[in-house]
Amino acid sequence: MTVSILYREELREYDFGLGHPFRGDRYEIFPQFLRAHVPEDGSYKFVASETCTEEDLLLICGRDYIDFSRDYFRAANLGETFSGSMDFPMYHSLDNLPRGKPGKLEEAARMVIGQLKAAAELVMHGGEEFVISIGGNLHHAKPDYGEGFCIYNDNAFAAKYLLEKCGVERVLVLDTDAHQGNGTCEYFYTDPRVLFVDLHQDPTTLYPGVGFANDIGEGAGRGFTVNVPLPVYAGLDSYRIAFEQIVEPITREFKPQVIIRNGGSDPHFADGLTNLGLPVRLRIAAAAELT
Ligand SMILES: [Zn+2]
Repeated sequence: MTVSILYREELREYDFGLGHPFRGDRYEIFPQFLRAHVPEDGSYKFVASETCTEEDLLLICGRDYIDFSRDYFRAANLGETFSGSMDFPMYHSLDNLPRGKPGKLEEAARMVIGQLKAAAELVMHGGEEFVISIGGNLHHAKPDYGEGFCIYNDNAFAAKYLLEKCGVERVLVLDTDAHQGNGTCEYFYTDPRVLFVDLHQDPTTLYPGVGFANDIGEGAGRGFTVNVPLPVYAGLDSYRIAFEQIVEPITREFKPQVIIRNGGSDPHFADGLTNLGLPVRLRIAAAAELT
């Protein structure tokens, strides 16, 4: 099996500037690491997909928000002032954004959505079972509100695209980033077609401060949101219990047709912003499973 890895070098433009924890060069690290440790022996291939269309973006947000985001980051990139605002925690000044690259950050955000569209197409119509998109995990973005360094929510787009364009009826979104995926959660809180399972650090200790165990969805979606807050320094054994006791049984019961697995390396013990304490050996085991 050859695994398609969706990636474009232009993703590096998703960059909040000097001194910010979210820099664009982070995306280059994975392809470099993979090529250095796993020879290109046919087990994987890099695929550069098209960016998304305006119609694609309208699946997850309104036209006003799309216009706002484009204008906001264009103005910021040019060093102009802009009367709008977008709440990016830890990001308080337009001065920190890279200059002289009009709209590049927002364009890169569209490329991430384009990759998820390509991933959905490859899985649904390209005969592929397993596709990786580098540069996503923009799970804090909401339908008409950007936060947590996220403009357009790639998880939500993939699920919506599968449901609305591909005839899929049951999608599991499994989010194991250290921060709760509050944007993704909001998209599907009342939607029983999407089982949203989120393992994250105790919200009383970390942004976004939501995602408690009793937040289980509403209306028809009640029971289809599963928040699993983990204590600070949870470690590998806590994850093992959570997967054996919660994730696996409910996944078997729900029988998803497609699984969207939202990663994020920040549960790792060396991450500077979080405290979940996962050891390095889990990453090696995960990598071994892929090859
Ligand atoms: Zn995170």
